[in-house]
Amino acid sequence: MGTSRHAKFIFITGGVVSSLGKGLAAASVGALLENRGLKVTFIKLDPYINVDPGTMNPLQHGEVFVTDDGAETDLDLGHYERFTNARIGKGNNFTTGQIYDAVITKERRGDYLGGTVQVIPHITDEIKSRVLAAADADVDIVLVEIGGTVGDIESLPFLESIRQMLVELGPQNAVNCHMTLVPYIPTAGELKTKPTQHSVRELREIGIQPQFLLCRADRPLDDDIKRKIALFCNVPQDHVITCADAETIYEVPLLLHEQGLDDKLAKALNIWSRGANLKAWREIVRRVKEPKSEVTIAIVGKYVDLTDSYKSLNEALRHGGLDNECRVNLRFVDSEKIEETGADKQLAGAHAILVPGGFGTRGVEGKILAIQYARERSVPFFGICLGLQCAVIEHARNVCNLETAMSREFDKDARHCVIDLMPDQENVVDKGATMRLGSDPCRLEPGSLAHKIYGKPLIDERHRHRYEVNNEYRETLVAGGLILSGINPERDLVEIVERADHPWFLGCQFHPEFKSKPTAPHPLFASFVAAAMTYARGT
Ligand code: GLN
Repeated sequence: MGTSRHAKFIFITGGVVSSLGKGLAAASVGALLENRGLKVTFIKLDPYINVDPGTMNPLQHGEVFVTDDGAETDLDLGHYERFTNARIGKGNNFTTGQIYDAVITKERRGDYLGGTVQVIPHITDEIKSRVLAAADADVDIVLVEIGGTVGDIESLPFLESIRQMLVELGPQNAVNCHMTLVPYIPTAGELKTKPTQHSVRELREIGIQPQFLLCRADRPLDDDIKRKIALFCNVPQDHVITCADAETIYEVPLLLHEQGLDDKLAKALNIWSRGANLKAWREIVRRVKEPKSEVTIAIVGKYVDLTDSYKSLNEALRHGGLDNECRVNLRFVDSEKIEETGADKQLAGAHAILVPGGFGTRGVEGKILAIQYARERSVPFFGICLGLQCAVIEHARNVCNLETAMSREFDKDARHCVIDLMPDQENVVDKGATMRLGSDPCRLEPGSLAHKIYGKPLIDERHRHRYEVNNEYRETLVAGGLILSGINPERDLVEIVERADHPWFLGCQFHPEFKSKPTAPHPLFASFVAAAMTYARGT
């Protein structure tokens, strides 16, 4: 199947409950192996039937992570990219819906020659071929995370596929790491192993014997507990690994390394490599734990969005802090509260203000008020995607005197749509993948703030939006003092706006947060946090 001959597979399953942090564990293992000099990649298999995670409600599902090639993926792929140098794209995230869609399309085309199409082998073969295809890119290790919890009906075809692969690839080429929960029961004063035992039994019932157990617990497992888990779960005792709660997620690779997980995986998979070089990770953790200063940044969004829907953004702000050895406290401000009680009340004390991406009318006026506050008080302001669009509306209304300025998204009949659909988007009705998605180039105006920050004239950033700055208003906006400092050279679209009359005011149509890593903080976030520090010193 064209698989690179030497690629080995680590399958990561989860049991007992969801939200154990499988994605983080997978990313951390990837980081450890990469720092041993191995080339890693990841696949996330999602058991839901939606074909396109892009149309899923971020409240139920968390952030939609966007890759360079424009795939709208699960937020775990963000962890993979932040923790490693793996190149993640369309081939790294599959849903059950996509798998069935492909098989049904083949059936309609007559590919199965009238044979009965079944879960085994047709669905499982489709899953296996996609997992094996990821090994094409000349990687040493493919980490495959299976979404959901063992015992769910939905994930059975995925588990059956990895059962087959474990047998077909052989024990030195593929292992299963099963993540479980070991709860501490305060009244008994004990960690309890029973849920782990049940979960492993469930896995063994479908033919999978895990080689490693990653046990989430609020404290380290002692030897007695490990012995018990090993005995009941048929796993060597030194393969029972504690995943204790960490002070920062960036400590997880170090905590796993201290227990020798990367050595043990290398041994199990018969991989010869050097030891892990974790200097960079140690420095990150030191900076998180011993910051030299502290700032508070207000993130102004819809109340309901202010959680996991901004995962990458929250991390990118923390990375900006790491670059400055500064702790970044995030204050989530509900934009509708600003509408009710005014910006002063909600934003006082913030050292910088950020308006992130978003969709829909709700709370937009509050975001515009927050931007007016930032502009008038010279508080550092960063607008991302919808944040840029709101900044342009604010400027048009309050500086250029176009009182009815709006985005077509919020009022189809508005007189001055300074934010509008691209002409080729006007008649699109389909809900999937109709946005400008993925990486696009942007040329920076020499001498602008953006140019200084990036230190180069041409950049690439990722997009996920339908609306754009309306080119018909460019002259008016510029006459009012807005600097259009980033332009898409291929399509002549506004990508970055800033102001000369303000210490740090920048809006971008793209999402820089998707490309920030703790090991390489994104320059816009590093500069924004530095501006917040300067502002804090002046107050
Ligand atoms: N809703 C806006 C658009 O579609 C902004 C999208 C975003 O912030 N990601 O253009």
